[in-house]
Amino acid sequence: MSTGHDLQRRASRRLPGIPEPEPGHVGPRPLFIARSKGAETWDVDGRRYVDMSTSGTGCNVLGFADPEVEEAVVRAVHDGPMASVLQPADVELADLLCELHPWADMVRYARAGSDATSLAIRIARTYTNRERVAFCGYHSWHDWYMSAGHAQPDAIDRFLQPGFGDAAGVPRAAGGLAVPFHYNDASELEQVLRASPGRFAAVILEPVRNTLPEPGFLARVRELASEHGAVLIADEVMAGFRLGPGGAHLAYGIEPDLAVFSKAISNGHPMSAVIGREAIMRAQLRTFAYSTYWIEGVGPAAAVATIKKYVRERVHDHLRARGEAVQAGWRAAAARAGLAVKVEGIPPLSRLSFVHDDPARLMDIYGARMAEQGFLAGERYYPTLAHTEDHVRDYLAATERVFHELRAS
Ligand code: PMP
Repeated sequence: MSTGHDLQRRASRRLPGIPEPEPGHVGPRPLFIARSKGAETWDVDGRRYVDMSTSGTGCNVLGFADPEVEEAVVRAVHDGPMASVLQPADVELADLLCELHPWADMVRYARAGSDATSLAIRIARTYTNRERVAFCGYHSWHDWYMSAGHAQPDAIDRFLQPGFGDAAGVPRAAGGLAVPFHYNDASELEQVLRASPGRFAAVILEPVRNTLPEPGFLARVRELASEHGAVLIADEVMAGFRLGPGGAHLAYGIEPDLAVFSKAISNGHPMSAVIGREAIMRAQLRTFAYSTYWIEGVGPAAAVATIKKYVRERVHDHLRARGEAVQAGWRAAAARAGLAVKVEGIPPLSRLSFVHDDPARLMDIYGARMAEQGFLAGERYYPTLAHTEDHVRDYLAATERVFHELRAS
């Protein structure tokens, strides 16, 4: 039995959600990775793959184990990553984030995306002394967000994934405080805000994700939040630093009141930040929001090194070029294979789906066949600085072979 199968058998007893391995079955993707570097990743049985999927759920934008980031991280580890008070990188990172976002004056750190969006909501509620939140998209597994499922079961199904709409394990008492609206539908947001005048603390949304903003949409959201006295929060956990060195809101000319970053800011090391206007950020002094590891030193060191490299190397240009090439390649390969596909998303967050009666089955086969050819691939392609033109060319050639096979299946 391979090391991967053995680990999976043990994991199926200890880690909920991991199934027993089927004898002789090689899954579409390796479950256990031993090592990753640049664009490559090796499983525990020594097989090598080029990661043309999400490279660590969108965190390793510079490629796995980027040398500059790792050097800063190793230094932080050697210097003792957890002190009893702040460390200089906390200030350096705060300056960097505020210089890149001139509308923001202050910064507060956490370590996960959900921590930081929840912190932003807590700050907004404290500042406004209100409770309701209008949201669009996925923002957190925490109760303030998931409780939306109690009031409107399709709210979570639509924005997270089908099956979680009943918000199991989340108290019903908070139900109704988080109210969903659709992206690109400013009049729906207006109705939501108007239905409860003076009760909305915040409007939170991603500036962009799978769909591009229609002209005027983001500006109207800004206007509505201001009109209703709600704090506008840009959730940049996913899109931040992929369209330019900073939040995607900068690319669309919108100034929120708070913005939340994680994932891309620290190239695979846990880190997140809320940035914002001074008066609002100071409101957090009236509430208790703190977690021990929010002051450890590896995250800020990684973030400073990562962000400096984004600025210096114009990494976003590279991401756009690779993402555009893959999106065009998906369309061309599908056309040649006679397969119907849908291609969505900004180029740095590209998304592929099959237009078919059973699209999930086709995606499973696609992932399995691509893994056989040495690629981690699926419905998402998040470009990294480590992806070369050759990686893209070879990946698209393999994709086309699999598309032909899928057409015939
Ligand atoms: N906001 C957005 C837009 C996200 O995509 C995610 C996670 N993918 C989160 C918040 C939560 O971040 P985390 O998984 O780090 O808690």
